[in-house]
Amino acid sequence: MIFYGTNSSRLKDGQINNVTCPNCENQTSMTYSVFGKYAYIYWIPIFPLGKVNVLECNSCKRTFKLKELPEQIKHKFELEKHRGIPILHFSGLAIIVLAIAFFAYSGSKNKELDAKYIQAPAIGDVYSVLSDTNGQYTTMKVTGVTNDSVFVVYNDYEIDKRSAIYKIDKKENYTVYESGYTKQEILSLYADKTIYEIDRE
Ligand SMILES: [Zn+2]
Repeated sequence: MIFYGTNSSRLKDGQINNVTCPNCENQTSMTYSVFGKYAYIYWIPIFPLGKVNVLECNSCKRTFKLKELPEQIKHKFELEKHRGIPILHFSGLAIIVLAIAFFAYSGSKNKELDAKYIQAPAIGDVYSVLSDTNGQYTTMKVTGVTNDSVFVVYNDYEIDKRSAIYKIDKKENYTVYESGYTKQEILSLYADKTIYEIDRE
């Protein structure tokens, strides 16, 4: 028997300030959580089904779905949510835990290029990544580089075939999961072969 269904998990938390609560009418702040719904088979999350945004008034503690709130608050939320704190946990959507991959990969011209790219990350670089526990593949895209840090957004999807990674590397698949690494961390992920390939246009 195959067990399957849907579930949801919290992806991100944050706060928006200086909004007027439609319930208590206080000028106040609201705490929000972004929930991701996903389908699972045998307890293994397979693919995301969408997101639900829930906000709580910090004055009256009433909770709202984003769509119940006035445009002004929606707008503020859209601006603010990119700064929220992503929660990486065992949801499958967010499984990008950085475990060591034990398979070797033979050297090639590409490997030489990758070795160069990893030393000097650039915006738009796409890193192919081996996820931790389930052995799925996914990607993360570089969105910012500073002297010592690299900022990325993760792909919403994972795929089970290394050779099929191109199927999920689409612009619209990079939406929620943002994170930052030091350049040193990026280098050790590459050394671990957690990051095993780099695409630069
Ligand atoms: Zn309120």
